[in-house]
Amino acid sequence: MIYLDHNATTPLSEQALDAMLPYLRESFGNPSAIYAAGRVAQEGMAQAREQVAGLLGCAARHVVFTSGGTESTNAAIRSALELSGKRHLVVSSVEHSATRNLAETLERQGIGVTYVQVDSDGQLDLDQLQRSIRADTALVSLMWANNETGVLFPVEEIGALCRERGVLFHVDAVQAVGKLPVALEALPIDYASVSAHKIYGPKGAGALYVNRRSGFVPLLVGGGQESGRRGGTENVPALVGFGAAAAQVSADTGRVRELRDEFEAELEQAFPDAVIHGVNSARLSNTSNFRLPGVEAESLLLQLDNAGICASAGSACTTGSLEPSHVLLAMGVKRADATSAVRFSFGRENTRGEVQQVMEELRQSVARLKDGLPPLTS
Ligand code: PLP
Repeated sequence: MIYLDHNATTPLSEQALDAMLPYLRESFGNPSAIYAAGRVAQEGMAQAREQVAGLLGCAARHVVFTSGGTESTNAAIRSALELSGKRHLVVSSVEHSATRNLAETLERQGIGVTYVQVDSDGQLDLDQLQRSIRADTALVSLMWANNETGVLFPVEEIGALCRERGVLFHVDAVQAVGKLPVALEALPIDYASVSAHKIYGPKGAGALYVNRRSGFVPLLVGGGQESGRRGGTENVPALVGFGAAAAQVSADTGRVRELRDEFEAELEQAFPDAVIHGVNSARLSNTSNFRLPGVEAESLLLQLDNAGICASAGSACTTGSLEPSHVLLAMGVKRADATSAVRFSFGRENTRGEVQQVMEELRQSVARLKDGLPPLTS
């Protein structure tokens, strides 16, 4: 198998798995318990919190463990609305469904939402953002790196603007963390969402960074876990795995960038009509979202799947439905063209040999599709 879908999820690292196993076996105590077995679980979580804080560049006490990026984002947005008592949100038109579907839900409940547009390179319209902030704006919530195209938003500049205007700022950092150097405490950011399964940790674990100056109202109300910021018995094994994965992240993403760039150079050579979405913008080092005009993404992905290559059309969340990607539509790509978009997202275990194999499969698959031949089955 050649796995090129790291923005959807990453494999669990050996180190993360090894760190988790004792907490699934003998160290099963409830971290709230006062006896020794409880303390072991509590210490495991304390270490994980330090490890995650180390990756995020913040103090451990500013890390609230959650079940993942979706919960963190829901918590940040709902908290800001409740804290401020204001009834307006600013998001972008290219957010992940965690933000987008929540914004739509809140809109139906009477909250005003402004969707800031992007240009054809996927870059945010900062003038529109400025104009969108109103006296009743509770929060600006934007992604750092787009999961489909990898395009980066200038979060430092946006954060400074939010501070100037006295508005809270939440960053969906799910795709940025582990792929970019991140130092949250040094940035004008109030809340940031993070997910373990995008950084070689387990699924169903994540964190919300809460800046020391920003208030927070819990989404999950229950026991006093997470210093009263998130009720519910903690998923200790997963959080320990998250910590171990965080400790293993390397700031050096140069090798992955080389693979991605080599792939794109070969793609453009083999298919001169290929279009790479967001190529003119600052992008994540691992992401390539492209289309080959006249080649349906679904058919191409089926061919690639037959050859053992895992990739996705647009984002994982829209796979299975025929809807073209809202991100590409927001960038002005025509609906018919958007259905040709394929995303390759590389990871640290990919090799140059795999890039060569993938290029060979692409050439063969596209030739078969253009000749109207049925997919090769393996
Ligand atoms: N935000 C972005 C940008 C994502 O890519 C994802 C996952 O695909 C999420 C949020 C949701 O994270 P999780 O799967 O941990 O809920």
